[in-house]
Amino acid sequence: MNRTGRLRLAVPNKGRLLEPTMRLLDDAGLALETSPRLLVARAAGAPIEVLAVRTEDIVELVADGAADLGVTGLDLLTEAGAELVPLLELGFGRCRLTAAVPEDAPARELEDLAGCRLATSHPETVRRFFAERDIAVEIVPMTGSVEVAPRLALADGIVDLVATGSTLTANGLRAVGTLLESQAVLVGRPAVATGAGDPYEGLTADLITMLGAVVAGRRRKYLLMNAPRTALTAIEGILPGLDSPSVIPLAHPGHVAVHAVVGADDVWGVLPRLREAGATGILVMPVEKLLA
Ligand code: AMP
Repeated sequence: MNRTGRLRLAVPNKGRLLEPTMRLLDDAGLALETSPRLLVARAAGAPIEVLAVRTEDIVELVADGAADLGVTGLDLLTEAGAELVPLLELGFGRCRLTAAVPEDAPARELEDLAGCRLATSHPETVRRFFAERDIAVEIVPMTGSVEVAPRLALADGIVDLVATGSTLTANGLRAVGTLLESQAVLVGRPAVATGAGDPYEGLTADLITMLGAVVAGRRRKYLLMNAPRTALTAIEGILPGLDSPSVIPLAHPGHVAVHAVVGADDVWGVLPRLREAGATGILVMPVEKLLA
């Protein structure tokens, strides 16, 4: 328990995780009473305070107990090697820690990097990854602009975070393999994960539940449609829902309304088939929160 008696959540104060983290808090019902630009902002409606700091400092602040929970990249958690646990994958900030070499280099896969000098801002992760596979590489630690290292003859290749791959291409580099798939995660000390002795009397678990409900909701869509009852078996066969769909009789005999929750990624494949099966007036709605 910190001095204020409020659960303290450390979040990025700038960079690419700032905006999606603020949107997540907002969607979870944790609107900030004060500006998120302040070091410490209070959440309205819950005894939670939000500590805005650099993304790369969050693991240490949580490990030290200066914050109870934090939002950061899985790549940064892995690099720090701290005794923290990822409590929840947040579904944004997705990227891969990727090894790449100049277009004309011979390496085709990770094993081919034996003997290479690799520039990276994730030296510990890279060292551990190759050591576990008995591949000898030399690590050239850098804090930024890793992708220019081969051109400056500082390294033979790089290991860097890649989302689309366009930075690699723009720098004449070719990916040879992935060391880690990353996304933003909620992190906490191991005791939090086990739920042992929460000084905030269940608030920690509630926060994890609420953030998880938003993340789960974003992965789903709520479908509503009308259909002749005779089409129901075909429609049920198409819907990869959470549970069985709700079927509600309509005023016109022989007609029903069908409500179902489907994966957001499934919508594209499902809609045309539902219409072919006889569904009409199909609506696709966002799911704000989902508690399974
Ligand atoms: P920042 O440097 O503050 O913008 O945040 C860097 C963090 O954002 C990284 O540690 C990753 O977890 C995440 N991230 C997501 N996509 C990328 C990307 N394409 N390049 C670098 N970091 C990314």
